[in-house]
Order: sequence, then structure tokens, then C-alpha cells
Amino acid sequence: MLKRTDKVQYLKGVGEKRAAQLAKLGILTIEDLLRSYPRDYIDYSSPCGVLEAPYETPCVVRATVYSRQPPVRVRGGRTIYRVDAGDDGAGLTLTFFNSPYAAQKLEPDREYLFYGRIGGGFGRREMTAPAFIPADSPHPLTAVYHQTQGINSAYLAKLVAAALASLPAEELADPLEEPLRRRWKLPALAEALRWIHQPASQEEARRARRRFAFEELYCLELGMKLLRSRSSRSAGAPMSRCDPGPFYASLPFAPTGAQRRAVEEIQKDFCAAAPMNRLLQGDVGSGKTLVAAAGMAMAAQCGYQSVLMAPTEILARQHAETLDRMLGPLGIRVALLTGSVKGKARRTLLEAIAQGQTQVVVGTHAVLGEAVQFARLGFAVVDEQHRFGVRQRGLLAGKAENPHLLVMSATPIPRTLSLLLFGELDVSILDELPPGRTPVRTMAVGSGLRGRMYGFLEKQIAAGRQVFVVCPLIEQSEEAGGETAELQAVTAYKEEVAARLLPGRRIGLLHGRMKPEQKDEVMRAFAAGEIDLLCSTTVVEVGVDVPNASVMVIENAERYGLSALHQLRGRVGRGAAESFCILVSDNDSEPVRERLAFLCRTADGFAVAQYDLEHRGPGDFFGRRQHGLPTLRVADAATDARMIETAAAEAAALQQRDPELSAPEHAALRQAVERLFEAAGGTAVN
Ligand code: ADP
Ligand code: MG
Repeated sequence: MLKRTDKVQYLKGVGEKRAAQLAKLGILTIEDLLRSYPRDYIDYSSPCGVLEAPYETPCVVRATVYSRQPPVRVRGGRTIYRVDAGDDGAGLTLTFFNSPYAAQKLEPDREYLFYGRIGGGFGRREMTAPAFIPADSPHPLTAVYHQTQGINSAYLAKLVAAALASLPAEELADPLEEPLRRRWKLPALAEALRWIHQPASQEEARRARRRFAFEELYCLELGMKLLRSRSSRSAGAPMSRCDPGPFYASLPFAPTGAQRRAVEEIQKDFCAAAPMNRLLQGDVGSGKTLVAAAGMAMAAQCGYQSVLMAPTEILARQHAETLDRMLGPLGIRVALLTGSVKGKARRTLLEAIAQGQTQVVVGTHAVLGEAVQFARLGFAVVDEQHRFGVRQRGLLAGKAENPHLLVMSATPIPRTLSLLLFGELDVSILDELPPGRTPVRTMAVGSGLRGRMYGFLEKQIAAGRQVFVVCPLIEQSEEAGGETAELQAVTAYKEEVAARLLPGRRIGLLHGRMKPEQKDEVMRAFAAGEIDLLCSTTVVEVGVDVPNASVMVIENAERYGLSALHQLRGRVGRGAAESFCILVSDNDSEPVRERLAFLCRTADGFAVAQYDLEHRGPGDFFGRRQHGLPTLRVADAATDARMIETAAAEAAALQQRDPELSAPEHAALRQAVERLFEAAGGTAVN
């Protein structure tokens, strides 16, 4: 009898070579095979005749095979196999390259349904490499699988059918319990597997997909909760008397109500038995740094050190300065530790950290280095979290017996996505901006208006303001291909455009290829008002705070997601002066224009993020897959929003009952969670 965990080689027709090819698709076992869901279906249920079939559009045609032509060898070692077919109305030639099997399977005088595009012309009709099934096939819906060299979709369908037929029912232990399935009307595993691979109707396929999407989200949530319950087993850094009062009293302004609420939540967590795991969400400029500083002040009261990790040197430096300003008056010593702190200065600093004389350390990845040892680390803050992976978070936690952790997200994330990305974290939201902010006036222009735009910049600079210009690339040659010329390369831009249109103005340049010291120097000069206009790449995207800057110009604005644009826009509007964001784009496709128009009329970062998610999908948030969490194979973060909420709630309820998923009836579920996180190289369960 076939087992779930058996290797695919147990199936007839799978030899070593096939097994190796399947392994490339991640298919090693029978279960892997069954869990490789189709990416689509061909619906053969309403075929048309050859004459009615449209040209160059995927369609299904019913035709009878007449005869196979002898193979024709062409240059390049290729062989063409042609089959003549047709119906009462017209003839249809089927062409297959290098694939004798497909042609051989087609029997003369039998009727088939062919799926593909009709080509030809002048009355001649042909289909190249069509998919097909016999016209009397009981399955009018056929699964289409991801293919790889040597493994085509039809072959996978055959293997799946064989596996489904010979796998005993008890091998299909369902990770989703019966009551749960009943509650959400989800089919059982065995049924769902049949439906997703061999659906009798679109409805069956849809219901099966829904079940697997739910299962995936449910397992993801559970896995993240397991990760979290691991870290909360140890006591962390319990604090007894902590009070943000003295910190508030030393500030030049009053914290907002939202900041106070977030600090209160942190205070509660600090005093609890388990370490804090909290996500701080807030729009650009909502004052997240102050909340972190309040936490650091409280930690210091209780004799603990704090660390803040930022994604770039520029940001780390700025945070160090801000924190020093806020915490210095309380007698708390703040130090900056980045890769460019070297030699004796570094040794002295490391010593002070190890001795506990430095209470707050701000840095880049460098703070994760082994040489950095804290005397008593109690509170860790990660700024702009999505650039750090789960692994780094773990490393940071390892610097002490699980310090309290605060993750500050750079941009607002829609609730559903934050459940997916940060499901293991509690959330504090800053839904209020500090008083006195006027929304940034945002407009979209074509480069035809460049002359006028520069006139406007000239006026702003003359009035003592400063300007950011963000361009996509560093040098013209950076990206090959035709579109390169259209992109505003930042170096050329500075020399040709900005210098010509703003003669006599001080123009700075900032990009990711510069050395950290150079970047710092430029940022310092800009912040000090020694530069009027700063041409930069998106290195200014996160965090940088220059209150006197009042205009943000973004060239080739169509290249960015709205959240990124919103983030860039947040660099201005930090001072009292009215601020402007000018989106320059010559792309006038409808979706691009609509997107930019939406940003022009929307100031709320959460609304912007939601728009991004709905129109561009979750890719912008998941970024370069650095988060270390499993990728979703069935569920879709954009369209399955309600299901994410449901799965998260169900996972939370189950976790109450069986935190470690150790009950025997949860064995299959636990395995499913393991599978999901293993595939991501993660370690939710061990
Ligand atoms: P972000 O949430 O984008 O990280 P920051 O922490 O950089 O925002 O804060 C943005 C600006 O707002 C800073 O210049 C900061 O000093 C200022 N700020 C923060 N909180 C307040 C407040 N309660 N009142 C006035 N200004 C504030
Ligand atoms: Mg910030």
C-alpha cells in the first residue's frame, strides 16, 4: 500500500531521471505531489467548431483526427510532427515540435477537444502544441500544472491521478478538524484533493482552492504563534517600577494621545512575566521614535540597556542624535555603533557597552556582531522592520535572555497583511499626527511642465527652503535596454538638469554607491542647510528628517508603489512651512494615472497601503522575500483578506486550547505547519 511519505519513485513510470526533474519542482514524496496544486484549469466544456474558432486567442476546438503526417526534420536538429484534423466546416493542422508522443497519442478517426491558439491565415488553420483530451472524456476541466524542463503538465496530471487512486484513505489525515471545516464549509482533505486536481466543475475547483487557501493561512498563523510562544517561555526582562513621567517632563512638546497609549501598552508589557513582542505601526511622521525613546527611558530606570537597530547608516546616525537629544537630559548615555566605527574608538565603545556604562546603543546590522556584548540588555527596537528578516530578529533576541522587542514598521501596512507578516506580534497603532502638520500638497505632472516646476523650485529655494529630488538610477548604464534612456539617472540629472535649470544653486548628490562617510557628510550638509537641492536615489526613502525641506520631487514616479511614494513624500511636511510633493511621470497609461491621482488626493498612509495591496498585490510589502516567512502558494493576500482574519482568529482560539499543538488529534496539523515552515527554511517547529 502506498504511503503519504513514500518517494515519488514508488509510482509507476517514475525513474531516477524523472525523480530528479520532479525534485526541481519541490516534489519528493507522494504528499509533495498531491500538494502541488494546479496553477490553472483548461475548461473543455464549451468547445467550438473549427470555422468559428477565433484566430490568435486561446480557445477549445472540437475536431476529428484524420491522419498523421510523416515527421519532418528541420535545421537545428528539430523535428516537426504534424497531424491533420478537422470537422465538417474546415481543416485544422496540429503541429508539435520535438514531441513524437503527443502526436502519437492522437488516433485517427477519433474526436478530440484541442486547446490552444489558432494561427495560420488565408483560410489555413493550425494550432501549435495544443493541449487536448478525447471528446468523450469525463473530465471537461483539466488541471494545468507548473512545468519544468522535461516534466509537462499532462505528465504531472497522470502521476497525480495514479497517486490519488492508490493512496488509502487513512493516509490522508486531515489537518483541519471536522468542526472547523463544518464551521467554514470547507471540504475534507480527500475530497478537496480530488476536487482541486480533477474537478467536475468550476464550483468544485473553487471550493477546493478555498479550503487549501484557508489551510495555508491557518498553518501560517499557527506557525507564527508557535514561534512566539517559544520566545515567551523565558522570563525576559521583567521590570517593576517603570514610569514615562520623567521622560515626558523633559520633552519640549507634549506627546500625542496616540503616543501616550502606545507607551502605556509598552509599559504594561515591560511589567509582564513574558517578553514583549510588539509592532508599532504609524504613518510617516507620526512620531514613532518618541515612543521608542520612552521605552528606553523606562528600561534605563530599571537598570536595563536598550538597543535600536536601523536599516541604514544615515538613519542610525539620525536616530542616535534624536535619542541623545531626548534621553541625554535624563542622564542616559546614547552611543552610535556602525560598521564605520573602527579601531580604538570601537574597542572603547564595546567595553562601555559590556560594562553597562552606555545605556542605549544605536546601530546598523553591526550591533548583531558577536563582539557586541551587553551587560544587561532589556529592550530591543528594530526600525523599519521589513528590511530585517525573522532570522535577524532571532539573533537580536539571542543577545540577551529575550529582551522586550519593539518592531517599528516604516510604512503603514493593511491589517490583513500585518497579520500575515507579523502575526506573532501585538500591535500598537499611532493613528494621530503631532499637531500643526498641514498635509503635503501633492501633484502629478508630465515632464512638459519641467520648466515651470523649476521656476517653482527656484522660488522655494529663494524663500530659504530646501528640495529633495529622487531619481531611479545612478548611472545611465545601470539598467540595460531601451527604457534606460528615459530614466532619470541621478548623476546625469544633477549635472545636466538641475545645474542648468537652477544655476548658482548648491546641488548635492546622494546615492547608494557612495561610501558611508560620504553619504553621512552629504546628509549632514543638507540637514545643516548647506545644500539647496539634493538629488538622490531612494536611499532617502526611510526616516531621514530635515524639517526645512519643503519640496519632494519624484522623477519617474510610475516606477514606485504608492506606499514607497507616500514614504518619500513623508520626508517633507515636517516643519511649519507648507510642503509640496511633485510626481513627475510621462507614463500616461490609465492605471498609472489613476494610481498617482489617488496619492494626490489621499494623505492617509493606511488608505494608501490598502490601495497598493488591492491594485498591485502584496509583492510590494513582501519585498525581496527577506521576511523569512513561507510564501503563500494558494492564498492571496490581496483577495483573501476576510479569510486571513478568519484563519487568524481560529488559530488564536486553537492556540489557547493547545499551544504546542501536542494533542494527538492535532498531529496532522502540526505536520502541516512544519511542512509550511520547512519549505521556507524556517524553524517554527522543532
Ligand atoms: P516617524 O513615525 O515617521 O518615525 P519621527 O519619529 O521621525 O516619525 O517623528 C517625526 C517628527 O515629529 C520629528 O521631527 C519629531 O521630533 C516630531 N514629533 C514627534 N512627536 C511629536 C509631538 N508629540 N509633538 C510635536 N512633534 C513631534
Ligand atoms: Mg522613523
